[in-house]
Amino acid sequence: MFKLGHFSGGVHPKSNKNTHFYPTRRLDDFPVVRIPMSMHIGPPCTCIVKPGDHVLVGQVIGEADTPMAVPIHSSVSGTVKSTQREVASNGRSMTVVTIESDGQHTMHPDIRPPVVENRDDFIRALRESGLVGLGGAGFPTHMKMKPPPGKEPDVLVINAAECEPYITADFRQCAEHPDEIIDGIMKVMHYMDIPLAQVGIEKNKPLAADVLEYELVKLNLSSNLQPNIKIQRLPTRYPQGAEKMLIYALTGRKVPTGGLPHDAHVLVLNVSTVRFISKYLKTGIPLIRKRVTLDGSAIQVPCNVNVPIGAPIPDVVEAAGGLHPGTKDGKVKVIMGGSMMGVALDRLEATIIKHNNAILVFGEKEADIPDETQCIRCSRCVTSCPMHLMPTMLDNMARNKDIDGLNHYHVMDCIECGSCTYVCPAKRFLVQSIRNGKSYVRQAMAKEGTKK
Ligand code: SF4
Ligand code: SF4
Repeated sequence: MFKLGHFSGGVHPKSNKNTHFYPTRRLDDFPVVRIPMSMHIGPPCTCIVKPGDHVLVGQVIGEADTPMAVPIHSSVSGTVKSTQREVASNGRSMTVVTIESDGQHTMHPDIRPPVVENRDDFIRALRESGLVGLGGAGFPTHMKMKPPPGKEPDVLVINAAECEPYITADFRQCAEHPDEIIDGIMKVMHYMDIPLAQVGIEKNKPLAADVLEYELVKLNLSSNLQPNIKIQRLPTRYPQGAEKMLIYALTGRKVPTGGLPHDAHVLVLNVSTVRFISKYLKTGIPLIRKRVTLDGSAIQVPCNVNVPIGAPIPDVVEAAGGLHPGTKDGKVKVIMGGSMMGVALDRLEATIIKHNNAILVFGEKEADIPDETQCIRCSRCVTSCPMHLMPTMLDNMARNKDIDGLNHYHVMDCIECGSCTYVCPAKRFLVQSIRNGKSYVRQAMAKEGTKK
């Protein structure tokens, strides 16, 4: 039976929310930014600047040519130094625009609030803002606002769960901008004609829930408004913030295999996404900055920073206080994202991108990965899987490239949460192996498609 906030499986990793209570630091002075032409799911943008061009803050430098793309804007004013093809940190080859900042932060004169009177204007404005889901996946937000006929959402789910260890960027967003979060939610409800919004926050962040509730009370007292927004305190359990878990935990609805939230008549947005929407509609400033949690044992001053998109990660780390002296020349492990679902970077010169919410840097001890041993058939991976999969079977099949078996055991339902890897006493690389399995299935499907 459905019980608010509950789902089966999941794990309880140590939360390590070391940066909860420190206000976000705004860092501006980066001599150079390097902006990749793709920070979204979908084809890269077409670069429309060339070396020597002078650009201003908020100026479009990458044009979106397909519906699944969003434009890319300059986050600084300065001179374009190069536009080179590079393999980005996500493994995709794309043009990266390097801009030398003039330190003036001059805003482009065309930046002004968009004129929004109806849903079409709203969707167009979101696209022009360059907005992608700020919770981690990089899905263009305007595409979420166009559900297929018959699949209109009747619930707006706001993801403020932030269940990943270390990351507190959304929590700081709630603590610092509750008014804009509530305003953003009301704007989405208005233009998308959604009667109810549910905000999911894990119980270990009571302040975030309190400030949002306080904001609703203030709104009622000052304007006599009572928007149908419910702030829901959810059990602290990883991966409470995964889209499918959160929808089920808040509404009792299940997204079918291979489906999207609109199949359950739900629209899911991250709490930072709605705050951006509120700010953008008031100012017209596109998505050019990002709040990111810096943490990990090698970071000297764990904190949240608000930095221009494209800022080089080593410069951000240095500006925020640098690495512990002992780790500077030693081995470190850099993760983009949280410790459960983040991606280890193979190069330090990667830059802050739109859907980056954390940079974790660990010292030598944590950087060492223990060797895998034989599976002891304890089934812990099975009981921890929130998607009711059999990770140990999927691991075997992925290693044997058994496409039929992978399909039979629903490999594509894996949300790559890492719970199975976390609990495995044999230290099997389960999630990595399952990820490979998913790519084999995708390759096989693509091959099938070209045969037909
Ligand atoms: S199989 Fe996938 S969904 Fe299940 S626990 Fe492992 S990573 Fe998570
Ligand atoms: S948790 Fe590890 S050891 Fe236990 S069954 Fe799963 S893969 Fe095997």
